[in-house]
Amino acid sequence: MSAVAHPTGRQASCATVDDVYRRCRELGMRLSRQRRMVLDLLWAEKNHLSARDIFEKLNNLGRNIGHTSVYQNLEALQSAGVIECLDRASGRLYGYRSDPHSHLTCIDSGAIQDLDVQLPAELLRQIETHTGYAIESYTLHLTGRRRRPC
Ligand SMILES: [Zn+2]
Repeated sequence: MSAVAHPTGRQASCATVDDVYRRCRELGMRLSRQRRMVLDLLWAEKNHLSARDIFEKLNNLGRNIGHTSVYQNLEALQSAGVIECLDRASGRLYGYRSDPHSHLTCIDSGAIQDLDVQLPAELLRQIETHTGYAIESYTLHLTGRRRRPC
């Protein structure tokens, strides 16, 4: 059995920050200065960040935004399905992708990488036969250690 994985950046499905502004407008969401700051940071970092990380990074960049505003904007964007939210034991993490994708977590550093993994059709068919469900999407959570420096 083989699965295909490629790093995120090469995927055509990755929307740009302008696409996301447009999506927010279509959803009738107001694009306040603070909301744009949060979106710009998530798209620049392309990582999974806590509300505190985002608050600290924005303030380090000299952006004047309160912790409550960061938190409220993240919640609004997440509940509208514009950004992703991962519930981890250490708290919630927010990411820039909202399409289904998989994650690889480093056991040593805790760093989380987005992955696009396609399971073989045969395996999906076996799961459908076994469960009686038609699979519509899936997300894999992989953990591992770096074998060699890249
Ligand atoms: Zn992700």
